[in-house]
Amino acid sequence: MSRAARPHLPVRPIWLCRVCGHPWPCGMARLSLLTEYRGNRTALLIYLATLKVEAATQLAALTPGAPPTDLTDRFLSWARARG
Ligand SMILES: [Zn+2]
Repeated sequence: MSRAARPHLPVRPIWLCRVCGHPWPCGMARLSLLTEYRGNRTALLIYLATLKVEAATQLAALTPGAPPTDLTDRFLSWARARG
C-alpha cells in the first residue's frame, strides 16, 4: 500500500484528484497520461475530450444556475502537440 503507487485518478463527480486533491488532471496524472500515450497523441486527445464532456456534464449538475466552466484548457490544451 505505497502512497506513491496510487494512481492519480479523478473522483467523480467533483473531478478532483483522489490522491493529491488538485483539479484533475493534476500534474502527476498528466505525466502518467503522456507516458501511457507516448507516440499516440491522437488517442490521448480523444480520450481527454471524452472525459472533458463527462466532467462538464457532472460539474454542471453540481452547480445548477452557474455558468458552465470551459474545461478545454484543463483537459486538452496541455496535451496538444507542440510546434
Ligand atoms: Zn494527483
